[in-house]
Amino acid sequence: MSIVGASVAATALAKTEAASNKAKITDFGLSKTQWSDKLQEIPTLCEMCVNKCAAIARVEDGVLTKLNPNPLFPKSRNMLCARGNAGIQALEDPDRLKYPLIRVGERGEGKFKRVTWDEANEYIKDKMVKIIDEEKDNRSTIGFCAGEGMAEHTYKSFMADKIGSSNFVNHGSICLATTIAGYTLTLGGYGQADLENAEYVIMAGANRAEAIVTPDTMDVFKRTKGRGTKLIVVDPRFTNTASHADKWLPIEVGTDLAFVLALTYVVVSEERYNKRFCSENLSDFEEYKKHIISNNYTPEWAQAITGIKADDIRETARDFMAHAPRAIYYQGRRTAWSLQDYQLRRAQAIFSAMGGGIDKKGGIIFGKKLPLGSHDINSPSYDNAKERIEKSKAASIGTSGSWIAWRNTIIDGTAPYPIRAFFAYKQNPMLSIPNTTKTKQMLEKMELVVVIDTMPSDTVMMADVVLPESLYLEREDPVKSFGGTEPSIALRKPVVEARYDTKPVIEIMRGLGEKLTKPLFEISKKYDESLQEEIEERGEKAVFKEDGYDLAEGYRHSQKTINHHMVSSIYGEEAWKTLREKGVFYPDMDKFFKKISTNEYEYYPEHKKNYSVIQGDLIQEPYHDTCIDIEEIAVLVKKFRTATKKIACALYNFEKRKGVDAMPKWRDELYTPTPVGKFKFITGRHGQFTQSGSANNALLLDLLPENYLWINKRVAEAKGIKFGDNVAVKSKIGEIQIKAYPTEKIGPNVVFFIHGFGAESSELTLAHHRGANDNMIIEDIYETTFGSAAMHETVVELRRV
Ligand code: SF4
Repeated sequence: MSIVGASVAATALAKTEAASNKAKITDFGLSKTQWSDKLQEIPTLCEMCVNKCAAIARVEDGVLTKLNPNPLFPKSRNMLCARGNAGIQALEDPDRLKYPLIRVGERGEGKFKRVTWDEANEYIKDKMVKIIDEEKDNRSTIGFCAGEGMAEHTYKSFMADKIGSSNFVNHGSICLATTIAGYTLTLGGYGQADLENAEYVIMAGANRAEAIVTPDTMDVFKRTKGRGTKLIVVDPRFTNTASHADKWLPIEVGTDLAFVLALTYVVVSEERYNKRFCSENLSDFEEYKKHIISNNYTPEWAQAITGIKADDIRETARDFMAHAPRAIYYQGRRTAWSLQDYQLRRAQAIFSAMGGGIDKKGGIIFGKKLPLGSHDINSPSYDNAKERIEKSKAASIGTSGSWIAWRNTIIDGTAPYPIRAFFAYKQNPMLSIPNTTKTKQMLEKMELVVVIDTMPSDTVMMADVVLPESLYLEREDPVKSFGGTEPSIALRKPVVEARYDTKPVIEIMRGLGEKLTKPLFEISKKYDESLQEEIEERGEKAVFKEDGYDLAEGYRHSQKTINHHMVSSIYGEEAWKTLREKGVFYPDMDKFFKKISTNEYEYYPEHKKNYSVIQGDLIQEPYHDTCIDIEEIAVLVKKFRTATKKIACALYNFEKRKGVDAMPKWRDELYTPTPVGKFKFITGRHGQFTQSGSANNALLLDLLPENYLWINKRVAEAKGIKFGDNVAVKSKIGEIQIKAYPTEKIGPNVVFFIHGFGAESSELTLAHHRGANDNMIIEDIYETTFGSAAMHETVVELRRV
């Protein structure tokens, strides 16, 4: 294997900017640091997971020596978790991608040669010109994917708006797409759980104590166990979250919908709902009540399905309503758990609304978002670019696609036209999408695979061209507005100069744009009749310039210049100065921000917090801050919600047009039982490990060296499996081997291990063949409303090896 490497010493960021931070960061009465010319403290944002906590980088003599939390950011409130601290190791990782590379061996063999950026772009251009010409200017023949990130939009707008492909898949369909869609169609928005003020929280399938340790996670745990919040955890595993709860309700995998329907039955039959709120704000509520009662969704019915005692269901429903509106059924994390997930999220949303806790302190809140100036991209319209290929594979597939359906459509030959090239940015589908074997098959079919990343992931190993991105600590990303009760704007800017021959995405797009503009325009001229007419009417020069055919246009300014415009055009130069110096800005920050005690801060006075923001009708397009495009949500709401502005108990339009049940309904045929002697496989995350992205981080591996298979202790004993024994786990699509962790913390018919391990890439010195890859065994099953991966539908068998 031969990725060529060389070491380049870190140098400090331009001193001018760093010097301007000097002393300023202490302006709000924060603790002072010894300043010297060689020591700088530079605010930035973490990218070790999606949360984007604010950090202050301590840079000594050009070397990043520490990442500290930035107390000024309301979202992260002076917290930086273990992963955030380990960002320093990500910067120093010797395995990082350092130079543009072109494959020289067989695909997947991992043999590359070092090239210049121009050579890499030239290679991409030659392949793309051939493919797009042969496809007669159908730009959608180029597929592309992205993981979540602040520059995702920069990349997506280049690929979708400038290049013109409709075939985008992002992490939405392996993340929150179905949950967000279910909540949005029901409430008009997804909202946030106000864990800081809730008195009663039902947390199902979300392992916040381990998976994401952020201030709002801490909010809930500070107040559980008789200290103000009652926490009920519903999970097949006794997680760390369950250990902090007042009650743990172990549930059969994939039966959450039955649990919520039974909670609803109790509340309806005992008339415990908030009558005034429901009559004013819920549409078709009478029909919904009838639906729940007539289907006999009793606690006894649910007990037989979920395994949760009927009395516990009754008590939970009563307690929830007794604390409402300060009661939350936590919306949930990650992807669809089961085939019935869309209706589960609808049922959860309606149940929460029955207590009145919508747009209210301690319930589901929407908050506000500070506007930013715009940076528009002038996009050409291509006559021959076709609609995405998997559109018909679920009831509603939006612009972020269904990863599994999209990939499978390519490999099973049912796509209406071929996808011949594939670009990946900040996503590692070889490890992140269920059924790794199929992802490999898809990549093998491509004539061109381009991967933009920071680490030599398994997907990088399948690339023809590798474009190395600068690490988050080395680059400026698009400025971001963070909504909520205490909205603010925060900035990720470089704390050290970019090492090696790496670039931020905006510069990568600029280089590709410069290279592709002319040849791709020539292809459009050949096949695009509308373009031909326009040229005849207005002349080629005018059309090219005015209609957006210059692909690099919009990417020529530096990110800093664009950010400056986006902030100063709305809030003025002082705001921009504050943001650069402190990393955070919101109006009146200098007046509002206060240090309360050792590690407690006030960001907004209580009366200025945006708990209830909706005036008049309940649904008034509250802001969204999720992985799903805001425009996509607007389309969804327009298409399928009824004209009512109320919380929708029934979605008759969706039923009529797409055959999706108007009201949440349990369907036996969509439940996968676990055969005797076999197990449901479930997966999840860990607070010291961010999917495969941190798999090679030495500091984090020190805390969590590999993943283990959780197996019920008594079952393990019966099978002669002891702690550390190697176990083969086999599903319909593959087999992995992993060490066993027999425990009482999991039921007898379920097994679990953490996602993100098991990399094949030999370029990842530490991650290579460490632990097991869950997506080798998770079947490619997706729920058919929005096409999200149903990751908890896989049945496996075990044997000791
Ligand atoms: S939760 Fe941790 S890893 Fe995620 S952004 Fe915050 S500090 Fe970084």
